[in-house]
Amino acid sequence: MYDIVNSWQNVHLFCCKNHKEPQEMELLNTPKAIFYACPKYFEKNREAGEPACINPVYLNDVEKAVKKINDMVGAAAMADNELNLENVKFTIDNVDYTVLKDDNGVLDIAVENRKVVRK
Ligand SMILES: [Zn+2]
Repeated sequence: MYDIVNSWQNVHLFCCKNHKEPQEMELLNTPKAIFYACPKYFEKNREAGEPACINPVYLNDVEKAVKKINDMVGAAAMADNELNLENVKFTIDNVDYTVLKDDNGVLDIAVENRKVVRK
């Protein structure tokens, strides 16, 4: 039985923008906003000459993505369908989401905020 993704613990966000390996996004709590940032945004995580990766994804964006996933899971459950979300892609408010892995409802999701990372 497929559990509804109702917990943040079941969602892991990654940045795949120009990285050899997906980078797990870090939750930042600043006075202005709470958002996820690529670890390569920080100089301490970069190699010499590696550019800063600017890919902030705000908590309310992620909430919309989680709601969409819950809707898909709910619809599949109603239809009695097995659901695996691996490779599912969708875009909400110019943020792209790609499910890299679906391990029984624990999701690795690549995120890219097109509002800011476009070159
Ligand atoms: Zn990145």
